Amino acid sequence: MKAVVKYGKGKGLVEIREVPEPKMKEDEVLIEVKAVSVCGSDLHIYHDAHPYWPPVILGHEFSGVIIDVGKEVGGWKVGDRVVTETRTGACGVCYTCQSGFPQACEQKRAYGIGTNGAYAKYVAGPARLLHRLPDTISFEAGAVIEPIAICVTSILERSQLQAGESVLITGPGPIGLISLAIARAAGARMIGVTGRSSDEGIRFEKARELGADFTINVDQGDPVKMILEMTNGLGVDILIETSGGGRAIYQTFEMVRRLGRICAIGISGKEEIPIPYDRGIFKALRYDFCFSSSWTAWEKAIGLIGKGLLPAEKLITHQLPLEKWEEAFRLLENLQAAKVILIP
Ligand SMILES: [Zn+2]
Ligand SMILES: [Zn+2]
Repeated sequence: MKAVVKYGKGKGLVEIREVPEPKMKEDEVLIEVKAVSVCGSDLHIYHDAHPYWPPVILGHEFSGVIIDVGKEVGGWKVGDRVVTETRTGACGVCYTCQSGFPQACEQKRAYGIGTNGAYAKYVAGPARLLHRLPDTISFEAGAVIEPIAICVTSILERSQLQAGESVLITGPGPIGLISLAIARAAGARMIGVTGRSSDEGIRFEKARELGADFTINVDQGDPVKMILEMTNGLGVDILIETSGGGRAIYQTFEMVRRLGRICAIGISGKEEIPIPYDRGIFKALRYDFCFSSSWTAWEKAIGLIGKGLLPAEKLITHQLPLEKWEEAFRLLENLQAAKVILIP
């Protein structure tokens, strides 16, 4: 089969290759990939700025249909529509796993990163990581459930966004837009999104379509001043940081209210980021660092999308055949897209 492979350590070193079809183990299923979504992490791996274990087939955000079932697998059959969590390799026995967070296990070797992923026709993987994809959700929308589950874990489970709260999202990229859709579904009273002049095209437009009350172009106005004006000097209840930008991270301390929460999802790509530490102490802020997704968040994400409460389809701006993966990467890199779907 054809697959997009990161074949070595270093920048680039990605190409379409002819590879053998995957073989499943007895506790695994074989999935025919119907749609795979391009993630910012895939770009980071391409640029050698994210952990990965080559050679590896890229792609961890996907949906598909089971075409074969291992001997030890119960509860799943050929023809089932599925999505899967990405925590392949998590050991199940360490302190992190046993305390209910296997997605943060040190041994994890996620699909598309340390285990062959879904930029291909077929993927084999553990049945215990599957979630059922209802008929009401398209395969394309199914392919964006993984980043949605990450945002549900971060925003609803960890930072505990409540109905009636005010929210500011820094960064209108895919994770920022997903965060916006979740905040909307959770009943936030006011949602703003910050971005730059380069986001004025498709990304701010998407933010407004998804229900942002306002957008702030930080190249044209001071976001701290604007947020304080809008909240009578208080600041927002919860700030969702998705940009990973040093300046945006510094400013979160000023834009969130006293005793507010900062929900950090964006990776900075840097060793260190300066922060106004004492300001955080005196305001008694909560800074929630977030990573990966929980089992419960997957179920919630599927429920929200299936019931029409979270418009996953609207996050998708482009759909291309797998062979055009480079074009997909370029669209994202040039900020010309929200979610891009590849069809193997
Ligand atoms: Zn991802
Ligand atoms: Zn573990």
